[in-house]
Amino acid sequence: MQSFICPFCSLLCDDIRLEIKNNSFVPLNSNCLILKKSLKRKIKDHFPRIKGKKTTMSIAIEELAKLIKKSKSILFAGMGTDTKGTKVSLDILDKFGGTIDHFSGDSYSKNLKSIQEIGGVYITLAELKNRCDTIIIIETTDQTVPRLFEKYIFPKETINKIKKRKIVYIGSKKPQFLLKNKNRFAFNSIYLNSQNLLNLISQLRQKINNNSLDSTKDKNLTFLFKLLKNTNYGSIILSASELDKDLCDLIINEINLLIQDLNKFTRFAGMFLSGIHHLVTVNEVLLWQTGFPIRTNFSKGYPRHNIDQFSTTRLLAKKEVDLVVWIDSFHEEKITFKKNIKSVLLGIPTHPQKKNADIFIPLGTPGLDHNSHLFRVDKVVSMHLKKIRNISLPSVFEVLSKVKERI
Ligand code: SF4
Repeated sequence: MQSFICPFCSLLCDDIRLEIKNNSFVPLNSNCLILKKSLKRKIKDHFPRIKGKKTTMSIAIEELAKLIKKSKSILFAGMGTDTKGTKVSLDILDKFGGTIDHFSGDSYSKNLKSIQEIGGVYITLAELKNRCDTIIIIETTDQTVPRLFEKYIFPKETINKIKKRKIVYIGSKKPQFLLKNKNRFAFNSIYLNSQNLLNLISQLRQKINNNSLDSTKDKNLTFLFKLLKNTNYGSIILSASELDKDLCDLIINEINLLIQDLNKFTRFAGMFLSGIHHLVTVNEVLLWQTGFPIRTNFSKGYPRHNIDQFSTTRLLAKKEVDLVVWIDSFHEEKITFKKNIKSVLLGIPTHPQKKNADIFIPLGTPGLDHNSHLFRVDKVVSMHLKKIRNISLPSVFEVLSKVKERI
């Protein structure tokens, strides 16, 4: 049996036990679908490829170095990597200019705009688990970070022995984990579309700030008003990627303002979930190296950050880059190819688009095939993950360090 810190989403569960059979792994104590699916992938070949044809690692690295030297405008996209992978990507961008973005850039940018305008108050996973007497989950299913519900919202025990925790789900989707366990865990649900969700939060803010329900007959509003007024330590959990795209900015802004309103008389904080590609890790490295998050460009010799101008979708659509280096060392996220833009994929060996890239270089997964550091979703913990699989697949750091030597 092998202890394992799971690298497949930003929850970084450190309680996983694996059974090892012929270099393949079976989770013994978790039914997390992302974990199971990720460990089941069978690696049939791990050859680098140039235009779909098998080649050697040294030739692929040489060709990538040539493309980077020739490029006038590089984009590092996806960025599914760890701290060392991000650092070496930044070293190359520092020397050659170019832009860095991430798979979760679109949803993160909505959150970032709101933080830049009005600020934010955030909670850690330990506070969520041990202190919160009220948890409001907005439009978040168990697909973003699957074990969040069982580990932190309905834990078997808490340090503070919280007995009466109120859980409310608000949104348009059915939260499967909650519904499957409705006989075990008490929770309230309010099913609303995004427009009504926005209205509800705005009205709630108004009532909270007036400290009065006036003559409202809205049952949901009355219920939430009373609940929040009696909360000692509350949290709102939100997954921006699951919100309606058109109203996402407004909803996030209203939630951040609601949290500020609530902090005038109680303690309340938010947790914005960022999914499976370790955006938090990439952002933390960027912030300590440059002072800016993703969507930063280095072509003028200093970092310039712009969340709209430097989005992957926009840069590819406007053909403002001539080389895109996609990095995905955890999953098999679909990537975009554009005519007249060279595409390089540094990805896991089972990636279904590996034959479509100009250059494909197979990678190991951090915490599975090599030691690694990753940041947890609440940013306060950096986890050290240890290699457990014996397979000769390089890390992003190893590949890009060799590229760096050649350029
Ligand atoms: S919730 Fe995330 S970290 Fe935990 S086992 Fe599932 S994929 Fe891994």
